[in-house]
Amino acid sequence: MKAEIIAVGTEILMGEIVNTNATFLAQALQQQGYDVYYQTVVGDNQQRLMEVLATASKRSECIVLCGGLGPTEDDLTKEAVSAFLNEPLVLDEENCQRVHRYFADLQQKEAANNDKQSLYLRNGEILANEAGLAIGCYYHNQTNEYVILPGPPGECRSVFQKAIPLLKSSGKRQLFSRVLRFYGMTESELGATIHDLINQQTNPTIATYAKQNEVIIRITAKSADKAQAETLLASLVADIKQRLQSFYYGEGEDNSLAKEVVKQFAAKGKTFTAAESLTCGLFQSMIGDVSGASQVFPGGFVTYSAAVKEWLGVSPAIVQQYGTVSAECAIAMAKAARKQAQTDYAVSFTGVAGPDTLEGKPVGTIFVGLATPEHTTAHEIHYDHRTRSFIRHGAATAGLWLLLKAIAKD
Ligand code: ATP
Ligand code: MG
Repeated sequence: MKAEIIAVGTEILMGEIVNTNATFLAQALQQQGYDVYYQTVVGDNQQRLMEVLATASKRSECIVLCGGLGPTEDDLTKEAVSAFLNEPLVLDEENCQRVHRYFADLQQKEAANNDKQSLYLRNGEILANEAGLAIGCYYHNQTNEYVILPGPPGECRSVFQKAIPLLKSSGKRQLFSRVLRFYGMTESELGATIHDLINQQTNPTIATYAKQNEVIIRITAKSADKAQAETLLASLVADIKQRLQSFYYGEGEDNSLAKEVVKQFAAKGKTFTAAESLTCGLFQSMIGDVSGASQVFPGGFVTYSAAVKEWLGVSPAIVQQYGTVSAECAIAMAKAARKQAQTDYAVSFTGVAGPDTLEGKPVGTIFVGLATPEHTTAHEIHYDHRTRSFIRHGAATAGLWLLLKAIAKD
């Protein structure tokens, strides 16, 4: 069955807000077993919305609309669907009372149009809105089903959950996915390694996505039966992991290198610190984004200038002899940081983020130091023709990767 999404709102059309509801709904509808072939954005205009509805109803069985359920004049989604389907809107008394109580509790005067938020299509089903005031609606006729959802993303998600049991596809065929994450290879390298699997894919299917320094593989099985889907996924996951073992770092939709570092260090009861020059706190900020980071990361250093590097414990002789953009300086920074913070491990970052060259070294030259309880090493990386932000991000993620490799051997 085909589904399509219509996001209503002039502010989306004008590029003032990002259509994140469509991203959520596209994934959610696929999970319910629909094929999503079209997404449309239309402004707050009843005539044009009705035209879009006419087109959508011819090519998709399930039409999901979001936005324009509020109390103001420009909120007209329900009115447009009502006119298009020739099905009048009726008032949900229960929600009306709820809205009145809400404003009474706030001791605020209600706007005249507020009852609009409690309208639904006669012969349709009310979709309660636990996250806001405007109710959604599910409606079907012989050819199509319509799901009407509020615009604010939290409300859209919450009300969509109420629609799931009513959907025609419900329980028939679902999608189950596993997401594998790899560091340090390009999408084309990855494609070459698993290209036979990609060519012969049917169920599960394989999709690859590239981010900076990271490639993600989503493996998706379609099945009405969760256990069967899990079996289908397991053997393919094992095959892919085995082929790409040295690049694999973790699994999961919301996983990241930083999360995996914090998790692995916590599991082993070890700590790390960082001394950052060109990344200027970026690495530590990535770590700070992860909840529970303080357990494994007591603190770290931003050491831009030679003077502050010296304060940390980097000998001026090293800077003089080799310069700050050098393996020797990265090693000295990592050692000094590890000693100062009294951690098990330390990483350090020095290099040229650009746009200008430094100490005669070209933009994109990076040294990442790694101090472990046994030894200290430096890893040289070169990024040619890259932006400052790419270079700094590349350096910080390289540090995460080195820590992850090191802790795995601990
Ligand atoms: P309200 O009662 O707030 O008016 P509504 O259902 O009428 O809700 P809109 O007026 O269309 O929804 O949008 C309200 C807000 O919700 C927007 O300003 C925007 O912040 C957010 N929003 C609307 N549509 C989308 C969308 N497709 N993706 C992400 N955010 C959206
Ligand atoms: Mg509105």
